Amino acid sequence: MTHTSDPGFETVIGLEVHAQLLTRSKMYCGCSARYADARPNTHVCPVCAGLPGALPVLNRAAIEFTLLTGLALGCEIPAFSKLDRKNYVYPDLPKGYQISQYDLPLCAAGTLAYVAGGMTRQAGITRVHIEEDTGRLVHRVDEAGASISLVDLNRSGVPLMEIVGEPDLRSPEEAREYLVALRQILRYIGVSTGNMEEGAFRCDANVSVRRLGDPLGAKVEIKNMNSFRAVERALRFEQVRQHAVLAASGQIEQETRGWDEERGVTLSQRTKEQAHDYRYFPEPDLPPLEMNAALLIAVRERLPELPNARRARFGDQYELNEADISVLTAERDVADTFELVIAGMAPDQARIAANWIVNDVIGLQKQRGLPPSQLPLNADQLRELLACLAGGELTARAAKELLPVIGEGESPRAAAARLNLLALNDDGVIEEAVAATLAAFPAAVADYRGGKRAAMGRLIGETIKRTGGRASPDRVRQLLAAALDNET
Ligand code: ADP
Ligand code: ZN
Ligand code: MG
Repeated sequence: MTHTSDPGFETVIGLEVHAQLLTRSKMYCGCSARYADARPNTHVCPVCAGLPGALPVLNRAAIEFTLLTGLALGCEIPAFSKLDRKNYVYPDLPKGYQISQYDLPLCAAGTLAYVAGGMTRQAGITRVHIEEDTGRLVHRVDEAGASISLVDLNRSGVPLMEIVGEPDLRSPEEAREYLVALRQILRYIGVSTGNMEEGAFRCDANVSVRRLGDPLGAKVEIKNMNSFRAVERALRFEQVRQHAVLAASGQIEQETRGWDEERGVTLSQRTKEQAHDYRYFPEPDLPPLEMNAALLIAVRERLPELPNARRARFGDQYELNEADISVLTAERDVADTFELVIAGMAPDQARIAANWIVNDVIGLQKQRGLPPSQLPLNADQLRELLACLAGGELTARAAKELLPVIGEGESPRAAAARLNLLALNDDGVIEEAVAATLAAFPAAVADYRGGKRAAMGRLIGETIKRTGGRASPDRVRQLLAAALDNET
């Protein structure tokens, strides 16, 4: 038995997530927040460069996005909120402090539902607050061979939202599913890309292990994971490490550890004694915030149907299995496209549409490396493709061949005509293919006539092949049967 399944121990996990907000400008100045392709230090002004005397101004959109997130997570929105200075020294932080929130966050006491082990679970959300990002250090070797570090302030002051979760998670798998569910909500409400690889969604994972029934143990905070998989792996490693320490009657020290992706281990970075004292105090350059009821109502109206509600509605409304529903609702844009495509369709047709999107269309999307929200065909194209299938203009086989070669925005019917893939409605041509097949496979013909009806499948397949996949299986079966029965 492994440590991870030792019934005497319980793992406790709480996650802190920083999500970059999709505002146009930075948190406290008018500089562009879209720094991805910008040359270093081109999105900088006295405020985000931290020059003395420069005054911050709150970004309204960042506040609204954070409130939207709080509402999506069922948080309470307190009547008062304020900003605080979090002081520390680092080369990527020219001001010497971040403007964040300490004791009066914008949102508090929410919940997040996620599915793990086939069950829906709930974890508490402690708080959601606003914060600003730091600049970035670029480490390199210069022409003289010296190691140097350069400071790029384009990211300095980019709006961040911190979502702090309660220590309600009980396994690395639950932690991963919690993150998946959280990111899905942020993407549905359009406040963040949630892209972990690009650093737009960062997670610090706190984990402790205790003997069942004991109070919470000392926690270890793990940093530096940049994928869902890395979070789960890091937590598994830490769970095993802590079990081993406890099983040997050792003590877990409260500390911060970094995840080393290549070696698959966590390494101690600093212990409690070296922990930062941020000397938080109220930000004197920004007024405290009083929640405005009208603003809150306006923000609430912007809440779309959230992933859980949409999944439940799909289950009630369409005859689809859980797995397909989860694929179709993973991204809001994909769910929207699906519903546009099947509008007015009978249930059996809707099921065919769902199959096509889940398997073939999303398969092609992955093959092309498109973002998960972007299908390779739009709703009009998908509707037309499915109509061609339903009306017999395309066989399933021809449609599969056609799908990857439809041009951007091109009509599938036109593409099929261009590529000579439209179904063969000429019985004469199919009869020729039937005759050629019967001549080529005398053994199968003899089997069929001898009562082995299964031989028909082979003959149908071969005949369709001879028509370049363009003959419909039904018509081929009819014409084959007629030919076989006639010539007995
Ligand atoms: P700190 O003051 O060290 O930041 P907090 O109480 O603010 O600690 O908690 C930070 C995060 O750590 C939260 O996400 C919380 O759920 C988690 N956490 C707190 N205590 C524990 C624990 N004993 N084990 C695991 N996670 C914990
Ligand atoms: Zn600026
Ligand atoms: Mg904390």
